[in-house]
Amino acid sequence: MRLSRYFLPVLKENPSEAQIVSHRYMLRAGMIKQSAAGIYSWLPLGFKVLKKIETIVHEEQMRAGHIPMLMPTLQSADLWKESGRYDDYGQEMLRISDRHGRDMLYGPTNEELITDIFRSHIGSYKDLPLTLYHIQWKFRDEIRPRFGVMRGREFYMKDGYNFDLTKEDALHAYNRHLVSYLRSYERMGLQAIPMRADGGPIGGDYTHEFLVLAETGESEVFYDSAVTDLTFGDRAIDYDSVEQCQGVLEEFTSKYARTDETHDEALFNEVPEERRRVARGIEVGQIFYFGTKYSEALGANVQGPDGKQSPVHMGSHGIGVSRLLGAIIEASHDEKGIIWPEGVTPFHCGIVNLKQGDAEADAACESLYEALTAAGLEPLYDDRKERAGGKFATMDLIGLPWRITVGPRGLKNGVVELTCRRSGESEELSPEAAVQKIVEIYANHQTGRGF
Ligand code: ATP
Ligand code: MG
Repeated sequence: MRLSRYFLPVLKENPSEAQIVSHRYMLRAGMIKQSAAGIYSWLPLGFKVLKKIETIVHEEQMRAGHIPMLMPTLQSADLWKESGRYDDYGQEMLRISDRHGRDMLYGPTNEELITDIFRSHIGSYKDLPLTLYHIQWKFRDEIRPRFGVMRGREFYMKDGYNFDLTKEDALHAYNRHLVSYLRSYERMGLQAIPMRADGGPIGGDYTHEFLVLAETGESEVFYDSAVTDLTFGDRAIDYDSVEQCQGVLEEFTSKYARTDETHDEALFNEVPEERRRVARGIEVGQIFYFGTKYSEALGANVQGPDGKQSPVHMGSHGIGVSRLLGAIIEASHDEKGIIWPEGVTPFHCGIVNLKQGDAEADAACESLYEALTAAGLEPLYDDRKERAGGKFATMDLIGLPWRITVGPRGLKNGVVELTCRRSGESEELSPEAAVQKIVEIYANHQTGRGF
């Protein structure tokens, strides 16, 4: 993309309404624009990152054997009356009536709808196990929408639902989700720690929240610092293996890590004092096993091998796709702007032309642009007639992890400058070597696709 042809409405001033750094940078970098309290338009740069995160989530869900689909945002209230949640859900649910006076709602979650789909089509254990998921906009009329996309009213969420014959099978599905979530967050350059949590209105005894440590997080968390040493890495996992998935769950949840809702001071005190941490975290996902709560309420039964009918065992599992943009920025930024991890960066590399209009500099930038594009990467070429300082400030703000700077002086010596956004370190090398290096860096990252 050439910056002169893109839409990147960067703000110079700090917007006064933004209280936390991620919100501030998302507004300043022209990623989002508020349309109403807690509701945003996703401008091209924000949309691109959103899609990259979404792609990673899709890829990791499908890798785990979960099946993508799409349910609508607007739902009829009937199913919610059947499950009893129409009254229970409270004011967070946006209730609408259509021209015929029928009660509708903008879905805050989809347990009822998916259970209805299940009961309409599946009646036998032979069709199990099954996990269906979608990534769709949700609406919750939050009392205090704030912090930009972190606590929106309209937000984008992956929600998946497993259906299993037995509790044992459903717990395997739970573990599979835990593994796939660990992989997803790591690909986004994030550490999200599974912490024992509370069921809330969805209910359930087995539930973990995934938290990204950040001072601006809304949850208070208590943990053994040894959990922060755990990484999933690129180990191979067989998602069908009960032992392997259970092993990962045990490895990642055996150390003390809880949110304030489930915190147990006595247990916490068993952690060696020097490893006890009290901090804040951002919830970027949650997994639940809730047994037969919805299948009983909605009559979703399956016939077992013994011919007997029983309510199907279920769980639901969510990732806050739009919230993740804020969480990633909270975890990865400096005073100049965002620092995108390679896995989710909107463009792989910036190209800054120090002297636009200089025939040699222009030609060198064009050929870098072509070489990177030919290698399957997306560069953002700042081809505007602007001062170098302004170009650097924009690149630093929007946070591309790598930048190639091209100027007549360097070109005389046959070099360009390659700069790492995170470390700030630069090196001079030939344009070919710079391209080669960037290609190698991204070969080690499974980056999501954006558009
Ligand atoms: P919270 O406690 O933050 O209100 P929740 O526990 O009610 O969230 P879940 O039902 O577990 O949310 O939804 C799954 C994920 O969706 C959450 O882990 C979070 O990342 C995201 N999410 C929930 N509410 C919002 C919101 N208002 N804005 C943005 N993301 C949200
Ligand atoms: Mg939650």
